[in-house]
Formats: sequence, structure tokens, C-alpha cells
Amino acid sequence: MYIGITIDNFKNLKISDVLKITGKLGVQYVELTESTLNENIEQISSMLRDTRTGFHLPNEGDNGYDFSCKNDEQKIDSVIHFVNLYKGRLNIDYCITHPPECTPDGQTETEQIETLLNNLNRLDCPLVIENIASLSIDEFEQFYQFAKIRLNNQVLGICFDAPHAFIRGDDPLVMIDRFNSSIYSVHLSDCKRKHDLHLPFGLGGDLPIDKILDALKNKDYKGNINLELMPRSLQDVRAVIASYLKVLRKFNLKKYWTTKIKLFALLPSLYFSLKKAAK
Ligand SMILES: [Zn+2]
Repeated sequence: MYIGITIDNFKNLKISDVLKITGKLGVQYVELTESTLNENIEQISSMLRDTRTGFHLPNEGDNGYDFSCKNDEQKIDSVIHFVNLYKGRLNIDYCITHPPECTPDGQTETEQIETLLNNLNRLDCPLVIENIASLSIDEFEQFYQFAKIRLNNQVLGICFDAPHAFIRGDDPLVMIDRFNSSIYSVHLSDCKRKHDLHLPFGLGGDLPIDKILDALKNKDYKGNINLELMPRSLQDVRAVIASYLKVLRKFNLKKYWTTKIKLFALLPSLYFSLKKAAK
């Protein structure tokens, strides 16, 4: 089991700069996004060393398109080419995908699903399928089962995004029970009742984080937990680190203490470089 963090640019820090920091902290898993395509792969690869990664495929909310969009073929081809070419260099264990969310571009619902599945099938990489806020549990499960059959052995399981369930009005604890052993990875971040804000814990969000961590622990959950957090300020970075420690403390007490000790030594230089970057 790995506890990880989504890695993106922060202020004027490049992805490789952020990876340098997470590497020093001993983070063993990170999630990369489409922004990785714009950076120097050699630099990223040398910072990753043996850190395992998941690659979050483009999604409508963050990138304005997903793999079900017919009108974004060129961008989709670039991502497929990138993942297939650099999967090994970037330690990518799986890609994370969602059910279709983009505008149908003149496609029927069935055609849109076919576009998505055909594109996913071109990835030479295992997949996890993430629940989205716009689908009910039943609708998501129907999509998941269909995709699993169509994509055969490519699908490892579900990426359970707790905030997506919560803002839909579903109880994340019920979904953990229902999806149970199909859950291969978990996305956590705090959110408001109706807004997926990707907040670190403890900054005024409404998600019942403690209950969710307890439920996963009680189930003896062994998959990855990734913190999909978007720090907007230096203050948020502190909260990201605190969130990471909170999950470590629950699932890996030994690593929690070694990370605390590393942080004690690292914090002054870490905040100095972050402050410089934030200017
Ligand atoms: Zn997510």
C-alpha cells in the first residue's frame, strides 16, 4: 500500500522541483497529470527514482476534454503516445480514467462510450476507473462492469473518489462497503457539501475524513491512497503535509514517525525554497 500525492506545478516550481521535495520526504507514490507532457522527462524521471506513479488521464473539469471527446483526437493521440512511450521511465503502474464527462460532440451516449473505450484500449497500460459526481452509484457500477468486460484484463479495479460521492449526496462509507474489494485505489481531499474543492484536511471542508479512514482501515484496505490536493498558497502546503501525515499515521505508523523526523530536519530549507518559488 502506498500513500501518495498528486503532483503538479506549484507557483513557478516545475513538476521535477516538486518531485525533489516529495522524494526527500520519502513519498513512495505520486499521481501525474496531463501537465507532465509539457516538461522535461529526463528531469522528472531522475527525480522519481523508484517512486511509483499513476497517470491521471485528462478530464473535462481540469483539462477541458477527456478520452470520449471526438473533437480532441489530436490531444488524445498525444497523451496515448506519451503514456505508451514513457510508461517505464515514469514508473506508471496504471492510468486513472472516468466515465465520459465531456460534451458529446454530436455522438450518441453509446458512441461516446465507444470512443472512450477504444481510446483507452490503445493505452499499453492497466487502468483504474474513477466514480464521478454526475453518476449515481448504480449508473457508475453499470459503466464500470461494462468497461471491465470490454477492456478485458486492462481494468484493475475502481478508483474510489470520496469527495465525488459526497458532493453527489451519497454516503462515502456506504460506497466503500458496496465496492469493497473492487476498490484498487482511493482519492481523498476535503470538499464542501456541493463543491469539489480539492482542499487539504482541516481547512474548513465538510468531508468526514476520519470516518472514511476508519472504514478503510477496518476493511484492512491494502490499495493506494492518493491525496488529490491543490495547494494555492504556502499555508496550504503546510496543510498538504499535515494531511499526508494524518493518512500515514493511520496506515503506516513507522513511516509516519520517520517522515516526522525527516520533516524536522527539512522544514527550514523546504519553506525557504517554497517561499522563493512563490514570489
Ligand atoms: Zn479523483
